[in-house]
Amino acid sequence: MLHIDIVTLFPEMFAGPFSASIVARAAAADLVQIELHQLRDFAHDRHNRVDDEPFGGGPGMVLKAQPLLKAIEHVRATRTGLDPHVVLLSPQGKKLTHTRVAELSKERSLLLVCGHYEGIDQRFIDLAVDEEVSIGDYVLTGGEIPAMVLVDAITRLLPGALGDEQSAELDSFAPGLDALLQGPVYTRPPEVAGMQVPDVLLSGDHAQIERWRREQAVLRTRERRPELLEDWPE
Ligand code: SAM
Repeated sequence: MLHIDIVTLFPEMFAGPFSASIVARAAAADLVQIELHQLRDFAHDRHNRVDDEPFGGGPGMVLKAQPLLKAIEHVRATRTGLDPHVVLLSPQGKKLTHTRVAELSKERSLLLVCGHYEGIDQRFIDLAVDEEVSIGDYVLTGGEIPAMVLVDAITRLLPGALGDEQSAELDSFAPGLDALLQGPVYTRPPEVAGMQVPDVLLSGDHAQIERWRREQAVLRTRERRPELLEDWPE
């Protein structure tokens, strides 16, 4: 089982996304265990203060190092022997890819830290963070949505999480598709507003269908993400 601990100021944000679909099913099947930790519980002053003004002045507030360090210490103490890999969600981190998601899905214990406000005291990052992960070149209000993105992407790669009806192997970026984009897919009825499903998909000829799907994946990748084909032995 993969243990995922999440340190956040807004645990309530996770209720919806984690209570439906594949993440909820994977948790019910004990493939993943997700635990949320309220950062304020680790504040050391009377007012549960977790942020303060930035040294040197400037806008916004900065998350203090001590509550975050205490939260990490607490999780480490409850996950003895698992040595959690600590990931800070940050727009300054390395941009998330399918390859990195697949690697992270093989960890036994992940500890995700959600930032908020202007930033996080650098000493916490230097002392306790193994890796900073960004979900893209834009800035969100907090690390909660990026953490949900990461948990969702990781969970669907856990063996057994998707059941029989779906395959992560044939998704865009996955090794089964040689890291290409997936081509178009269709379902019933065979005609919609005068538009037909490609004949080959109705032919029953599985080898031909596979060939067509592969061609479509290459075409779509060339059209939309040509850089993915640069290292590709076509
Ligand atoms: N002032 C920071 C900067 O310029 O890098 C941005 C802080 S942002 C408003 C607050 C928090 O949201 C960050 O600490 C991080 O946890 C999260 N966050 C925002 N955008 C993100 C992204 N693209 N990927 C991952 N986390 C992000």
